[in-house]
Amino acid sequence: MSRKRAVKDYQFGNCIGEGSYSKVYSAVDLHNRKTYAVKVLSKKHIVKEKKIKYVNIEKHTLNRLGNHPGIVQLYYTFQDDASLYFVIDFAEYGELLTIIRKYGSLNEHITRFYMAQILDAVEFMHSKGVIHRDLKPENILVNHHLRLMITDFGAAKLVGADTDADVIAPDTTIPGDESPRASSFVGTAEYVSPELLRHNQAGFECDIWALGCILYQFILGVPPFKGKTEYLTFEKIILLDYAFPPALYVPLRIKSLVGGLLRLDPLARLTIPEIKQHEFFRGADWADKKTIWGTKVP
Ligand code: ATP
Repeated sequence: MSRKRAVKDYQFGNCIGEGSYSKVYSAVDLHNRKTYAVKVLSKKHIVKEKKIKYVNIEKHTLNRLGNHPGIVQLYYTFQDDASLYFVIDFAEYGELLTIIRKYGSLNEHITRFYMAQILDAVEFMHSKGVIHRDLKPENILVNHHLRLMITDFGAAKLVGADTDADVIAPDTTIPGDESPRASSFVGTAEYVSPELLRHNQAGFECDIWALGCILYQFILGVPPFKGKTEYLTFEKIILLDYAFPPALYVPLRIKSLVGGLLRLDPLARLTIPEIKQHEFFRGADWADKKTIWGTKVP
């Protein structure tokens, strides 16, 4: 098998998604007959929108992460005059957000199954010195085995590397901030951590905060902090203003785990080993990578 690839090595199929500066296609590798997702980025567009930095971070991060079943794998990158191409794992079911929207919310069993997979991937990512900084159900893809794969590393921070994208753009208005920073917020308002809003700092703990938001969203169908505007969402985050609707029964073990993840002080949040030991995951065999919470994961 040749080590390099080019457009001619793929049979392109349907366009399966579109981002703000990319199109994603399904494509069959003519050498091994496997189907991949190929992300095509227009060079002109990337330069015009000043996204070169984010594209490079995504490439470097995926290369650093290599192969983990819970993280989209980058197999090849190549280019032609007009475009850059990223050949990655194909996730047949698309974004996890679509699944949550379809069912409204997820039951505890499925939530545990999905959270365990996400946690396993985040633990691996952190062990490689990568902070994702934009974890949310839109950035988690689902393949045909119901295997979750984290994607979209454009906002990632590689600890020890000189590739750091701004997380808050200079014109974002933050509650309590006397001097409104002058453009739009990079990342996603509902999942952003309080320390990032207050001090523009985002360490490994900001991914733990996002896990708390995701867990809440699995069970309730909506993220915990959601205001009518981005500013009001930020205000709720800074005040830790979230609640479980009294009319809905939510087991204490779930409330307790959400509470342990959504703590304003990043150092007070549960660590990954503590999350794994939490009552919510009782019985999970973390050593067995193929079986998470009694369900086979390919
Ligand atoms: P933006 O750049 O605006 O934040 P995005 O990050 O979602 O958008 P892409 O990563 O290019 O942009 O993805 C565009 C869409 O393509 C996604 O919304 C998703 O539905 C689909 N998609 C992306 N990667 C894959 C994949 N590996 N397998 C299947 N579908 C994918």
